[in-house]
Amino acid sequence: MYYLEAIAHNPRGERVVHILAVLILVAMIAPKALAEDESGSSPAVDVASIPEMPSPSFRMYNPFRMFFRGVEVRITWAGPPDKPIVALTFDDGPHPVFTPQILRILEDHGVPATFFVIGRNAERNPELLRLAKEKGHALGNHTFSHTRITAATNGRLKEEIERTREIIFLETGVYTQLFRPPFGAFDARSLAEVAHRDLEVVLWSVDSRDWATHSIGDIRRNVEKRVHPGAIILMHDVHQQTVEALPGLLEFLKGKGYTFVTIPELLPIDRVAWGG
Ligand SMILES: [Zn+2]
Repeated sequence: MYYLEAIAHNPRGERVVHILAVLILVAMIAPKALAEDESGSSPAVDVASIPEMPSPSFRMYNPFRMFFRGVEVRITWAGPPDKPIVALTFDDGPHPVFTPQILRILEDHGVPATFFVIGRNAERNPELLRLAKEKGHALGNHTFSHTRITAATNGRLKEEIERTREIIFLETGVYTQLFRPPFGAFDARSLAEVAHRDLEVVLWSVDSRDWATHSIGDIRRNVEKRVHPGAIILMHDVHQQTVEALPGLLEFLKGKGYTFVTIPELLPIDRVAWGG
C-alpha cells in the first residue's frame, strides 16, 4: 500500500522517486504484464501502479482490495478454487458475424458465459446484446471505444463507462456492475474512477490468446494447460479462430468435470443484478 499512499498523499511530490518506483516495478512485473496483455501491443506499463503485487495464490483466488481516496477498489482474477467451475468471458463484441456463432455454440452446449462488450459495438448491434441477455449470459462493461483507461482523463473515463452502461441498460434492462479494462491495463487513479461508479473490476486467470494466434490448436492448448477450478477464461467474440476452437474446448472442459458459470455466479459477492 505504500506506493498508493504516496500517490494519494503526495500527488505532485517526489517525482523522481515516483518514476524510479515505476521503473523498478515495471522491471519486476513487465514479463507477466506482457503475457497477460490482451492486445500484445504494448508493455502495459500502467499495471506497475499496483503496488506490492499479492502472492500468486492470493492474486489468483481472491479479489484484491484497496482503498484509494476513500473508494474501495476490488480487482478479481479468478473465482474460488474449491469448486470445479469456470467462467468463460468474451470481450470486444458484439460482432455481427462471430457473436451470433458463439451464442449458437454456447446454446448447443448449454453453457452460460459473460460478455464484456464495447459500447460502440453494442450500439451498432443492439439485437445481439439483447440476444445474449435472453440466452442467459451476463453482460459487462468494456468501455465505449476500447480505451486504455490509464491514458484517459477522468472526464473521458466517466463518459466511456457511463455511456456503455447506459446502452446496456437501455437495451437489456441490465445495470451491469462488471467492468474489464481494455488490454487489462489499469492504475490506481483509473480504478478509483471505475470503482466510484459501483463497478467490480474483473480480469482473468487463463488467457486463451485467441487474439494472438489463428491456430485453433494453440488456443485450445493455452486453455487446457492452464485451466483450474475457479478460472476466469479470456476469449474474444470477434475472431473466426475463437468460433472454431470453442466447441472442442467446451467438450474438453466438460470432460474434465467443469461446470460453466457466469461471472456473477462465480464470485461470492453479495450483490444483486450485477451483470445480469
Ligand atoms: Zn478488449
